[in-house]
Amino acid sequence: MKPADQKFATDAHIERAAELILDAEYTIALTGAGMSVESGIPPFRGPGGLWTKYGEPPMNGFQRFLADPKKAWEERLSSRNDELYKPLSEAQPNPGHRALAELGHLGVVRFVITQNIDDLHRQAGQKEMAEIHGNWKLVRCLECGLRFRREQIDFAELPPKCPECGGLMKSDTVSFGEPIPVDMLKLCAENSARADLVIVAGTSATVYPAAGFALEVAQRGGAMVEVNLYESELTALCDISLRGASAEILPRLVRAIVARRKHRAS
Ligand code: ZN
Repeated sequence: MKPADQKFATDAHIERAAELILDAEYTIALTGAGMSVESGIPPFRGPGGLWTKYGEPPMNGFQRFLADPKKAWEERLSSRNDELYKPLSEAQPNPGHRALAELGHLGVVRFVITQNIDDLHRQAGQKEMAEIHGNWKLVRCLECGLRFRREQIDFAELPPKCPECGGLMKSDTVSFGEPIPVDMLKLCAENSARADLVIVAGTSATVYPAAGFALEVAQRGGAMVEVNLYESELTALCDISLRGASAEILPRLVRAIVARRKHRAS
């Protein structure tokens, strides 16, 4: 175990993290609900969480969908303004999402694995990424696995049919009891296998398989940098724990990385 002595993120902590990231060959990031919360989306778990208030969704949600897809779609389409979907449709990417996308453009962060379904990484311009729990704006064919934007799909008849193969379509958001789509798992496995540094932001990384991709990097001797408001189960494994909001810490990290790069180049 490596010591995590930082209680909050001073400029010196940010500088150390920037140095570590610039020394890495292949950096990936794992993000979670904390980043969404900073964009005004209520979390599922914890105090004030939607599931804490209303109870967890059924553990067999996927099986219920398969048993009656028409009914499941009718419910889904009539819930656009409820307490889950309204904040999702109003949310905007925050400076943390934009900073991560910027690190992507700079070639510093090669791949983002997100547990968030809110589409905000994409809206911030993130290119190389896997939405391991799906994306609420997308619809996925359970037969051929293709994903479509909602506006590409004809909802006149429910359940909607895949424009490509005619297969049964479901919201891309992964339900309880539903396997994580294999294309996402493959992308995550390939990228975490290459990584020698993982930035964990806005997640305590306790939900598998997402957490496993970050832990694997550390277990192979790679570095781990955490950006979290609170200490997490990962903290003891981290080389550097940056204590604070992603929207505050990640832009500082970008500035430090850009400055150091210039310094190194000169
Ligand atoms: Zn299809």
